[in-house]
Amino acid sequence: MPEASLADRLELVRERIERACARAHRDPATVRLLAVTKIFGPEEIREAWAVGLREFGENYVQEMDRKQPAVADLEAARFHLIGHLQSNKTRKAAQLFSCIDSLDSVKLAARLDAEAVPLDVTIEVKLSDEAAKTGADPVDLPAIVAAVRASRHLALRGLMTVPPWSEDAGKSRPYFAKLGELAALHGITELSMGMSNDMEVAIEEGATWVRVGTALFGSRKPLLGRPL
Ligand SMILES: *Cc1c(COP(=O)(O)O)cnc(C)c1O
Repeated sequence: MPEASLADRLELVRERIERACARAHRDPATVRLLAVTKIFGPEEIREAWAVGLREFGENYVQEMDRKQPAVADLEAARFHLIGHLQSNKTRKAAQLFSCIDSLDSVKLAARLDAEAVPLDVTIEVKLSDEAAKTGADPVDLPAIVAAVRASRHLALRGLMTVPPWSEDAGKSRPYFAKLGELAALHGITELSMGMSNDMEVAIEEGATWVRVGTALFGSRKPLLGRPL
């Protein structure tokens, strides 16, 4: 069997989104696809652009910095930072990305605003008690929301969360439902939640963005000579 092409895999992802929307009585146009290209190279980003994708997620500022020259000409392509942002990298991040989806502190909001470039931001909320996860503690959310709303250059777009990994996508549901409640409480309409394995559950719980890597690009095998 020949290996599936990116166009084939994109078709499968779109079908999954459409089926989940049908079950949830939602218009598929309300669910946007963020193509997660971390670890993959500029070639894969260009290929994804060629099949119509325009919104890309990257996890590391330095990795994006290396790829940027080779993707800078892709018209209307927008890059989202979805990995944790360190406060000493806010300048670079503001130059490289259109959207910071992983904003998780008042301090980061202040530093990004000080860069004085228009940026869309999404606040990442940590809803599990896993030690390793990043994201804002829900108790800090009101202060972060207020800081972004009071800023001059940041536009608050949504909330994001990453539930603990599980084979069983259904285990993500309470985390997605909780994110929806927090968004409603703050009058926030965009929800970035759901990845390759649990996008259907996220859509049923109201996701307006799903962040999909593996289901589009295949598994992220660590490649020799391609540092993270
Ligand atoms: C890697 C990553 C994704 C994509 O995960 P897949 O399981 O490959 O679809 C989505 N969101 C975040 C924050 C990620 O780090």
